[in-house]
Amino acid sequence: MTKPEDKFKKIIAHCKEYGFIFPSSEIYDGLSAVYDYGHNGAELKNNIKDYWWKSMVQYHENIVGLDAAIFMHPSVWKASGHVDAFNDPLIDNKDSKKRYRADVLIEDHVAKLEEKIEKEVTKAAKRFGDSFDEQMFRETNPRIQANRKKIDDINKRFVAALEADRLDDVKALIEELEIVCPVSGSRNWTDVRQFNLMFSSQMGSTGEGASLIYLRPETAQGIFVNYLNVQKTGRKKLPFGIAQIGKAFRNEIVARQFIFRMREFEQMEMQFFVKPGQEKEWYEYWKEERMRWHLALGIPESQFRIHEHEKLAHYANAAVDIEFNFSFGFREIEGIHSRTDFDLAAHQKHSGKKLQYFDPETNESYVPYVVETSIGLDRMFLAIVSHAYKEETLEDGSERVVMNIPPTLAPIKIAVLPLMKKDGLPEKGREIFDTLKYDFHCQYEDKDAIGRRYRRQDAIGTPYCITVDHQTLEDNTVTIRERDSMQQDRIPVEKISSIVADRIRLRP
Ligand code: ATP
Repeated sequence: MTKPEDKFKKIIAHCKEYGFIFPSSEIYDGLSAVYDYGHNGAELKNNIKDYWWKSMVQYHENIVGLDAAIFMHPSVWKASGHVDAFNDPLIDNKDSKKRYRADVLIEDHVAKLEEKIEKEVTKAAKRFGDSFDEQMFRETNPRIQANRKKIDDINKRFVAALEADRLDDVKALIEELEIVCPVSGSRNWTDVRQFNLMFSSQMGSTGEGASLIYLRPETAQGIFVNYLNVQKTGRKKLPFGIAQIGKAFRNEIVARQFIFRMREFEQMEMQFFVKPGQEKEWYEYWKEERMRWHLALGIPESQFRIHEHEKLAHYANAAVDIEFNFSFGFREIEGIHSRTDFDLAAHQKHSGKKLQYFDPETNESYVPYVVETSIGLDRMFLAIVSHAYKEETLEDGSERVVMNIPPTLAPIKIAVLPLMKKDGLPEKGREIFDTLKYDFHCQYEDKDAIGRRYRRQDAIGTPYCITVDHQTLEDNTVTIRERDSMQQDRIPVEKISSIVADRIRLRP
């Protein structure tokens, strides 16, 4: 069986070979943690955006879209807390000279303890068979209890240290847990320091009084500062939401794992404005709704995990991560946060402008509370390709790499392939392609043997191949080949469009 890290390497290589993702500025040896999306990648990314946008804006009457600028007034970032508190605690290993996020070192240590617990449970389940009572076992097994206590103690201590800004205690915890540098294997650590993740630049020339400007580290603030504009011009009543897709920038300390952690990335965020007191109810609603969105793509539930936050961000009163089982373990793909009135109240204070809602039912004015759903587009992309990549040995002993991308997201929906490059088959193929191209993103290909063309389409995840043969010229029928089962059926040309549309339609 392929090891997860080997599979991950293969996925990265496959993404490059088939035009999904290239390292940025590759001819100059690339730029750390920055990537470009190729012809197939750009299509897949657009399809993910489209699926998200439609699910949010088109299918919810009370959610509207927004496209705010990346540059914002510098006071925005003071009000939001990013200037003072958008920091990661960093620590260096003196021997390897490698830099780490202190919180990630501790979280990885906790994840190892969690793994031990899960191994214990799996072993016991095998031993006891049908009579196994998992809950009872978890509650009474002494080794599990001991590890659970260790995890709780670490989490409590870590949260307390961060909340009190006691970075020396974070370092002490790393030392006590005997965490070693994965590269040098040593415990020779520097002190822990805070590092602000925002990129900054100057706007305007110095002559005319340049001002410090930031590249936005999240799209959410563009929504908050436009809350009143949208509410008034859209004549929106609470509860309502504003959705936005856009670039965000973070000077990540440790940028690893391909497109999982980038310095320039894209977010799909929705801020849902509610009456104070109703935020918990809406938080639960969006938690469920977002899980449904993920599962509608056909990825099994076992690949997702819900992680409730121990340490809440300065703006939240409840927060949860939806985690996906990437090749390197379960990691955050989306955050759902109950942000209270923190942001709107802060902008109201810093700008001196009222950001209140007049409630016609109660005749009161108040600052709404906010529930946020925030998903990384690139992480979603990585989840899709990681899950889709399969190496298969077929019945005849040959091998194929197939990308089981959910058909609705696939870069190319239909490949039109004349069986041979003669006898009028290419002309008929072109004719079919020219009618289908208005409904679907299609590709026409007539080079190489048909088997090789099928493999190329499998490798980019094209769900349907239409093959034009001599019979097509006689009775206007073609074969339609389905990517995953490789089953082929004969259908009339005029039915291709409706059959494919039916099969790729998705309702979250
Ligand atoms: P992490 O803990 O992994 O750094 P975060 O909690 O800082 O993530 P949020 O601020 O909640 O992330 O951002 C919302 C979403 O944006 C995340 O769920 C993730 O999908 C995405 N995201 C955040 N940082 C990055 C990044 N550097 N590269 C790619 N996607 C990111």
